[in-house]
Amino acid sequence: MRFAGASVLDISPSLLFRFRRRGEIGGFGRRFVMTSRSQARDCDEGFVTVEEWRRWGPVSSFPVAVKQIVNDLKVLECKLDCGIEFGGNGGKLQGPFGVYEDKKHRATYEALDDPEKKFRFFSARQIACRLLGSRGYLCQKCWLAMEDCMCLLVKPCGLWKRIRFWLYMHPRDFLRQNNTGKLLWQVFGVQSATLCIFGIAEDEEIMWNEFKRAGKGQVCCLYPNQNSEVTLSVENVFGNSTSENPGSSMADEDKTLHFILLDGTWNNSAAMLKRLKDHAKLVWGEEDLPCISLATGASAMHKLRPQPSWDRTCTAAAAIGLLSEMSLLPQLSSYGLDKQADAVEEALVILLDSLTGRRLRMGRSITRKVRNTINIC
Ligand SMILES: [Zn+2]
Repeated sequence: MRFAGASVLDISPSLLFRFRRRGEIGGFGRRFVMTSRSQARDCDEGFVTVEEWRRWGPVSSFPVAVKQIVNDLKVLECKLDCGIEFGGNGGKLQGPFGVYEDKKHRATYEALDDPEKKFRFFSARQIACRLLGSRGYLCQKCWLAMEDCMCLLVKPCGLWKRIRFWLYMHPRDFLRQNNTGKLLWQVFGVQSATLCIFGIAEDEEIMWNEFKRAGKGQVCCLYPNQNSEVTLSVENVFGNSTSENPGSSMADEDKTLHFILLDGTWNNSAAMLKRLKDHAKLVWGEEDLPCISLATGASAMHKLRPQPSWDRTCTAAAAIGLLSEMSLLPQLSSYGLDKQADAVEEALVILLDSLTGRRLRMGRSITRKVRNTINIC
């Protein structure tokens, strides 16, 4: 199967692989389209259980809004007697079903009267389409195509118990093969690195309940790059503790420090940070959510081969940078943070190898230039 039209590099590698894979399995003549397992599948099969939901990474119950959209899609499939087809960018619906559903969901969106409802509908629909489109195709744990599953290669590692990461993920990054935020719970487990999807009420509620319990001084947001909005460095936070700083209570053995990692594209991260700040204002009053940045930036990953373009959107690199910088502080040097950073770095290398290995198997050359432009986020 050859691709016509758009340049290969216009499409993220994960999607390329996905389309080709579908072509190989199903022998469908259509380009850029994959279908759900069978157009003739039983209409009841659309139901997603909480177990299936959690196998993908979330810790929440299956979100009501997502469930509603999944059910609506399945009802529509039966009514139209026309299979659900996924393709395009992420879980985009295609074919006659896609055309009909597009009109339907746009009408629903327009009818919603406030921006918050619209936003939640957008998020839930993204998640619903991705769930149905990835079923039976992606490994639920590593989000790679089944034949590329890297789960056996990843070595689990305990994260220092005083730290908890929150992967605040844009819905468009959910179930993306080249997402790197997922590596954190693969390595540290979902209780130490927890997924929270932007705009999914159940996830956001769990995260904010934890923050309320912990208190404002125990929560901060990590910006992978230095940014004008960011005021604190790791040194500020932990080096010269004052009661104003998030790290000031690290001497208190019972306290956990919560780090929010924005897991989305650079363009989306401003909106994600704004939502966090708005919520922080509601919970804690006028004060802003403390944000920290890394001294080196997430791109300074010298040790990594083959030096791909870990840019400012690489979430795992941000976590590695944070743990590494913390490990250099004398008062935190005995908690094995450097080893924990190494464990994520190893997983990141495995992911990159898997993504590039697939390209090679597909007969695509991996020049240094191409290799360096593989998108990860
Ligand atoms: Zn896997």
